[in-house]
Amino acid sequence: QKELLKVTNLKQYFPIKGGFLGRTVNHVKAVDDISFEIYEGETLSVVGESGCGKSTTGRSILRLDEPTEGKIEFDGGDLLALNKSEMRKKRKDLQVIFQDPYASLNPRQTIAQILTEAMAIQNIVPKDQRRKRAIELLETVGLNAEQIDRYPHEFSGGQRQRVGIARALSVDPKLIICDEAVSALDVSVQAQVLNLLKNLQRDFNLTFLFIAHDLGVVRHISDRIIVMYLGKIVEIADKKSLFDNPQHPYTKALLSAIPAPDPENKKERIILKGDVPSPIDPPTGCRFHTRCPFATELCKTDVPELHNLDHMKEGHRAACHHIEKIASGEMQPH
Ligand code: SF4
Ligand code: MG
Repeated sequence: QKELLKVTNLKQYFPIKGGFLGRTVNHVKAVDDISFEIYEGETLSVVGESGCGKSTTGRSILRLDEPTEGKIEFDGGDLLALNKSEMRKKRKDLQVIFQDPYASLNPRQTIAQILTEAMAIQNIVPKDQRRKRAIELLETVGLNAEQIDRYPHEFSGGQRQRVGIARALSVDPKLIICDEAVSALDVSVQAQVLNLLKNLQRDFNLTFLFIAHDLGVVRHISDRIIVMYLGKIVEIADKKSLFDNPQHPYTKALLSAIPAPDPENKKERIILKGDVPSPIDPPTGCRFHTRCPFATELCKTDVPELHNLDHMKEGHRAACHHIEKIASGEMQPH
């Protein structure tokens, strides 16, 4: 499998200004030293509660927020080394679909203008063929050719998201980052859009980084899944391994909150104590220690590294000091 994207030790700290001089008094550590890779043709999802850093991760890769530290390699090149104009060109290969297509579609532009504009910026389809290409794209995403001269407000939420997908496709990208792309849609419309994304992935050899808080959605679309907590990756595994055998105490709690598809296989609901701490002064050691039912003194001081789990399938990694003992039952929750 070819690596399309490789993120190494990515940090995204946002300064907090304070005092009458407006100096930086602290930082929000939105993403704090994460590493992962995305293989060509797969859907890698990033899940976690709001504020865990999943959207920030997507924005860092797109350089909508300039990373504080780290390395991002995309399609064999160093993304962070590109200047503004090189980065603009690179956006041909690296597209994004946001939660609210209405906010990202210009209300004064027709669908034809929206779709041909991206082609014009990237200069990829001859000018006299752009409208024809836009119509094809509209049909590819399940809309009609006659809708090409309409405005965004004439479409439903699901249709607008299809327009957003068509716009992303118009430049023939390699990677599409979907940030809560179906979160605002009704459940039935969600399923249609997810199926559309899957079909497009197959037909156009697309790779997705799929950012979502809804585990039901993630279960539907992912090949592999990253679980984040307070700016850190706590677990990464292929979908089946993660849903069947979650290892990290936080992942277990997160998954225990969704109904099992098989009612025979009832899981115990794990309720975590307390709230997610602030990313401004995150807990020392393991960031989850303030809420973890297995936490020890070591967890309060030492940061656990993400490591391969010998007792699990290859590629299943987690960041927890006691994961092997928890898995074997040697350690019990307290
Ligand atoms: Fe819990 Fe400690 Fe593991 Fe963190 S390292 S998840 S606090 S047992
Ligand atoms: Mg978000």
